[in-house]
Amino acid sequence: MRIVILGAPGAGKGTQAKFIAEKFNIAHISTGDMLRSAIAKGTELGKEAKGYMDRGELVPDTLVLGLIRERLQEADCKNGFLLDGFPRNVSQAKALNALLEELKLSLTHILDFDVPESVLLERILNRAKEGSGRSDDNEEVVKNRLKVYNEQTLPVSNYYKEKGNFITVPAGTKSVEEVREIVLDLLK
Ligand code: ADP
Repeated sequence: MRIVILGAPGAGKGTQAKFIAEKFNIAHISTGDMLRSAIAKGTELGKEAKGYMDRGELVPDTLVLGLIRERLQEADCKNGFLLDGFPRNVSQAKALNALLEELKLSLTHILDFDVPESVLLERILNRAKEGSGRSDDNEEVVKNRLKVYNEQTLPVSNYYKEKGNFITVPAGTKSVEEVREIVLDLLK
């Protein structure tokens, strides 16, 4: 299985991504986690990425693409992988296509988490209020992340919709467990 999981901030894709990766024994590749880890380690890449992330903007494509290119060639990806948080704009999606072609691989599923914007806003504002410990979880930045999602990441769904293997996950008002069941069923 080589899966891309798409969805807005607050769509609950991170939680499900972890579950799917464990269940099917494939690598969970979260670009957000990789970038936060680079920041924590104080690497050059982390230093470059931090400002963008704190503002809720996308970090430059070249940074993320470098990470993904290396990561996809690691041993644990042999059995499959799940991309979470990438691609986040159409040019990343096109670059991923080219990279996969080069590696002679193709995607098996595109899971698109569909959640109404009103639900998203409520969830991420709550998460910000509760204090997730993430430096990009405050009201202003969270709203910007949603705006960036609408402008840059929604078009990625449309890009994949035309290509097949595209599955919409109705994740709107359902619990984590209900969404998990839906996803398992869809991946059968
Ligand atoms: P969320 O939970 O909001 O979906 P992520 O953990 O996936 O957030 O990402 C947090 C931040 O990391 C993003 O706002 C962005 O700055 C940066 N980021 C993560 N993935 C990418 C990517 N593929 N391209 C550019 N920036 C990214």
